[in-house]
Amino acid sequence: MNEVTILGGGLSGLTTAYLLKQRGIKAQVLEARDRVGGRTHSVKSHNAVVDLGAAWIWPHHRNISQLVEQLGLETYPQYETGYSLFETPDQVQAFEPQGSNSPRRFVDGAQGVSLRLAQELGEGQVRLGARATGIAKQNDHIEITLSNNETIQSKKLILATPPRVIANTITFTPELPEQLKNAQAQTHTWMGNSAKAIITFDKPFWREKQLSGFCFSHVGPLGELHDNSPEDCSNGIIFGFFAGLGSFAGNAEERKEQVVQQLIKLYGPEAENYIDYQDYAWWLDDLSSATKDRVPLRDHPMYGNSEFLKAYWDERMYFSGAETAIAQGGYLDGAVEAALRVAKTVC
Ligand SMILES: Cc1cc2nc3c(=O)[nH]c(=O)nc-3n(C[C@H](O)[C@H](O)[C@H](O)COP(=O)(O)OP(=O)(O)OC[C@H]3O[C@@H](n4cnc5c(N)ncnc54)[C@H](O)[C@@H]3O)c2cc1C
Repeated sequence: MNEVTILGGGLSGLTTAYLLKQRGIKAQVLEARDRVGGRTHSVKSHNAVVDLGAAWIWPHHRNISQLVEQLGLETYPQYETGYSLFETPDQVQAFEPQGSNSPRRFVDGAQGVSLRLAQELGEGQVRLGARATGIAKQNDHIEITLSNNETIQSKKLILATPPRVIANTITFTPELPEQLKNAQAQTHTWMGNSAKAIITFDKPFWREKQLSGFCFSHVGPLGELHDNSPEDCSNGIIFGFFAGLGSFAGNAEERKEQVVQQLIKLYGPEAENYIDYQDYAWWLDDLSSATKDRVPLRDHPMYGNSEFLKAYWDERMYFSGAETAIAQGGYLDGAVEAALRVAKTVC
């Protein structure tokens, strides 16, 4: 029987396991995917590492900044020099941005944090391809059923998964209290309605035109674009969020064609000479997005519902994950905040 099991090998679950290990408590992490990192997913594009999921940390995000420093990982500033663009159906306007709370990027990609944490945990502590479908309270333990019908017994269980996602995909026996189920249903999975495109060039040619690469578009298919080039400029990269679910249409080839046409309009004919295109729709991924998450949001939601701060089933089951954080909920920083909270209380 496991002492502690953590469901979810994203940043929050792995940070929780890492913090418990520092206290001498061994926890097994169960992760449904064949990789760690959850909503951080960093892939190679020519000379660069690019982020299909989370990418930035902001200066006021202290929890993640401290963890990154502790793990010895490197970051660099988001490139923001030059004019920004605003695209409407009639025109593309250049404007000088006002001072901002500039974020930083991860040299090895945001997933690098989870990969390093998994490495620190050591052999056998993170099990990939382990998708929980059932969680049942027993007399003196919790039983987790996986999609292959295997069962795992554990004295304690930490759910480091988006609350709404597991409410739809895991059967709890007995049923969870009504207020907790309501909290799960009401908690939007941050960025569970997003899709990203990444377009790679030999160099960041827009910088020579005094453009920062940032554009806000009312036309699409990309609604918000940024420079994603590595610090050494060994490639030039633009990434953008698709403007809405409707703009992520057609097959990858068709989407690429539409995106490249938009980049030609924004940055010039050089955009036709792209050398790589990748995109990913998180709202099509049922480990990161529930049906109710697939709606546009006007504001950042409120997170940290008090129901997630309680322990359940005779203090055997706890909630972690970015959406349970009181401050910076939904963000990487919130994922670490939640881990710090749970790791202190679980044992
Ligand atoms: C496109 C995009 C851009 C973003 N940009 C930023 C950004 O720039 N800065 C920022 O701070 N945040 C950003 N975020 C949010 C950030 O990614 C999250 O805050 C963070 O990754 C959440 O970590 P987590 O561990 O709480 O959850 P997750 O990363 O979602 O991890 C949960 C894990 O649980 C696993 N899981 C789910 N169900 C099961 C199951 N039944 N059995 C086993 N495992 C299961 C999942 O596979 C996943 O690995 C972005 C997110 C996206 C999608």
